[in-house]
Parts: sequence; C-alpha cells; structure tokens
Amino acid sequence: TGTTTPPKSASKSSKSLNIESELASNKTYAKPHKSFVVIGHVDAGKSTLMGRMLLDYGIVDAKTVDKLVKESMRVGKGSFALAWILDQTEEERSHGVTVDICATDFETSTTRFTAIDAPGHKDFVPQMIGGLSQADLGLLVVDSIQGEFESGFAMDGQTKEHTILAKNLGIEKLCIAINKLDKEDWSEDRFNHIKSELTEYLTSDEVQFTSDQLDFIPISGLTGNNVVKRDSTIASFSWYKGPTLGEYLETIKLSTNLDSKQLIDEEFFLTVSDSYKDKGELKVTGKVISGIIQSGDSIISLPSEVKLPIQSLYVANKKMDFAINGEVVQLTFKASQVSNDNVDPFRIGDLVAKADIVGGGSIKSLKKFTVSLHLFNMDKPLLVGMPFVLFRNNCQVPARITKLIEVTSAQGKKKKKNLLHLVSKQTAIVEVEIEGSSSLPLTKYTDNKTLGRIVIRREGATIGAGTVVDY
Ligand code: GDP
Repeated sequence: TGTTTPPKSASKSSKSLNIESELASNKTYAKPHKSFVVIGHVDAGKSTLMGRMLLDYGIVDAKTVDKLVKESMRVGKGSFALAWILDQTEEERSHGVTVDICATDFETSTTRFTAIDAPGHKDFVPQMIGGLSQADLGLLVVDSIQGEFESGFAMDGQTKEHTILAKNLGIEKLCIAINKLDKEDWSEDRFNHIKSELTEYLTSDEVQFTSDQLDFIPISGLTGNNVVKRDSTIASFSWYKGPTLGEYLETIKLSTNLDSKQLIDEEFFLTVSDSYKDKGELKVTGKVISGIIQSGDSIISLPSEVKLPIQSLYVANKKMDFAINGEVVQLTFKASQVSNDNVDPFRIGDLVAKADIVGGGSIKSLKKFTVSLHLFNMDKPLLVGMPFVLFRNNCQVPARITKLIEVTSAQGKKKKKNLLHLVSKQTAIVEVEIEGSSSLPLTKYTDNKTLGRIVIRREGATIGAGTVVDY
C-alpha cells in the first residue's frame, strides 16, 4: 500500500516513560480535565457568562473580554464564539474546519477545562453533534427574567434539540445556570419555580435525564455574582448555600476523571475531528475518548487501517510526551510515510486506536450491527429500508434499518412478530446497515459508553438515539 509499517519495536512507545509517576509528578496531569458544552437560547447570556468566567479566573483582562464579546456579536453566529477568537492560531482559523466546533481551553488552579460552543443555527446541527460528543458535561444557560422564561425561550426548539442530543450523546451531568437573577432580586422563589419547571421537562419521556444528573445554580453573568466569586453583601441571596458555578465545575466528579492506574488499564481511542497536510507533516486533531497515547506510539486509523508511528503530540498547542482521556490532541505524522493512493487515512469521525491492540480490541469496522433504539417525536413512521443519517460522535454516514427484532410501545408492550415500521416514542431492537461501500468503526455500548452510542436524523430533524448492543 506504500504505508510504512513500523518495525515491531516501534509499536511499543519509543520513549520509555513511567506513566504512573509522570501522571503523579506532572503539574498539568495532577489536575483533572473536564469539557463542558454551553447550550442556551440566543440572549440567554452565554457570551457574557463565558467572558465573566474567563475574566474572574484571570485568564483574560477586562479590555479583552469587552473586545471579544463585541467581536462575537459581530460574528453573530448566535453563540458565544469566544473560543474561536481566543484559542485559534491564524493558521487554524484560515484552515477553517475547526471553526465549526468552537472549543477553548483554560486552566484554573485545580482543573483544566475545555469549553465547547454549541452553534445556534439549525444548519450547524451535524457539527453540533460532533461538539456535543466531545463534552463530559452540559452547561445550560437560561434567562430567569419574568416573561423571558415564561415565553418558552428557555426551551425553544433549538435548545430542546441540543439538550436531547447532549443526553443521548452521553453527557453525564447537566448543570443549569439560572442566569440574570440580578434582575429578579436573587429571589429564592423564582429560582425554585424555574428549577421545578425545568426538572419536570428534563426528566420527561422526551428528554429522559434522571434528576440526579441535574444541578441548578443561580447566577448573574453580568454582575458576576456566584459565577466564580460570591458577593456576600447581597442580603436577598443569603438563602443560597451551594457552590458558585466555578466551584461546581471544579469539584464535580466525572467518570472520565480516573486515577492513573485505571487510566493506564483503559483501552486507547481517539475520534478524528480534523486532518491536513502542512510542511511535510500530516496533522491530525481529535479527542482522546479513553486511555493514554504517547509520542512514538504506533497507531491505526479505522476504517482506513493505515498504521503510522506518531512523530509528535501537542495538547493546547504545547508539545507533550503523552495525552490522556478527555484531552483534545494534535498528532503529527511524517507525510512521506502516508501513501498517496485513494484512501484518506484520517477522515473526520474516523477512530484511532493503538496499532498493537486492534484485533484483540473491542473496536470493529462494521457494515451491520444491532442497536437498541429510542424514537423521539416523528412526523411520520420510520419503515424498514427507509434512509436516514446515522451519527456516532462526529462521524456521519447514510444508513437504514434492515430488520426489526423487537418493538416496545410507549406503554411498555413488547412485540416481536409482523414488525414493519416504528412510530414516535417506541423503543426497539433493530438491525442497522451502513449504506454504500463504507463501514463504520464502533464498539458495543458495554465496551465504551461514548463510542457505542448513535443518533439518527432524517430531513434535518433528530428522530432517534440508541446504543450498540451487538455486532
Ligand atoms: P447570548 O446570546 O446567550 O450569548 O447572550 P449575551 O451574553 O449576548 O447576552 C444577551 C443580553 O443579556 C445582553 O444584553 C447582556 O448584557 C444581557 N445579560 C447577560 N447576562 C446577564 C445577567 O446576568 N444579568 C442581566 N441583567 N443581563 C444580562
């Protein structure tokens, strides 16, 4: 194929690092990493909140925040867009691809954060799915002002879809920032009213969060109260005994925050979000879904099955010896080692694993697999054989159902015979086939909670979500 197969010894890490002691002694890795995606209606206060957070954590100065908020309004994507402006080098910006998923990294004294922007426009939902699948935690910003919340803005169609997608792409926790409480005199009643309305909706059949996945925090992004700092002079806010939003984000325990032993034992996977050639190098960006990867390791990309040794590894533009789960990493390879045949070795959505593990690993490139699927509200039934788009993380492929194995109605009645179509709110065990010549790298949900999930969309609407149960 022209692809250089690395010598056997190179499939082990070229540099022998004691990862366990590295993790313990390295100041960066002593801090857990958390990614959160910011969701909310236009004007809910997302830009203002993110600006305030970065300001009060001392990441940027007031003048810069002001400029960025203005700039984000000018760019006007209906999202905070700070990330795009803050984080990217000129090269990345002109390259364009990463603009779709706006992520910014920042670090506090205890935690490394990635904040991910959820593009507001409907056309961006596919990119949005990619962004959401990189997040561990959702931050839903709602406007608490009398009338604004009541008019249903808090849960407009777009915010609803983002929230449902977040749930089905595997975020563990949804933090709801009840914002602009300065305008409601920090009223406990107002806070509790909004909290109970949103809890009812978010735990409904439509969204299916459990109440222990939800946390509510009263804030004002504008004044900054309870974002990173608490203003103790406000008497009407003395009822609140919980954490600030910053304390919450810093202390919340996530399943990705493993100890070093667990991390070392975990299988390594990365999802590709971007790749391009530059000055004799092939640069591949993606999120480490699980495990650890070291500079010098040999990797395999799926479905192309191209194997390459990693030349160097960057996290947040810094050269590192290794990267761990949760991190967005850039891997570089010698472009001369990549063959020039028709196969693009790293397409958006492809999966990267360690070269010496595949075969024995849980990941498979598949054309057919079995899914436990939950249907949302659909305006027409889904028939066997009807085309739809299937998403796994940031990967999208045309697909269809080839067989209905079992259908459970919204009322809980199971049926196994004479099954021809699915309607809203049903749950079903189905066989799914990828259209065309391509295959999709997947794991079972029981092997990996992120890579074993799928979402399906048809005619621009999300119609269902599920988990891979067998292949
Ligand atoms: P986005 O569209 O969600 O990014 O919302 P913006 O951050 O652009 O905020 C929309 C409007 O709400 C702006 O006029 C902000 O000044 C205002 N705003 C944002 N946060 C607060 C807040 O906590 N209190 C008050 N009173 N106004 C706010």
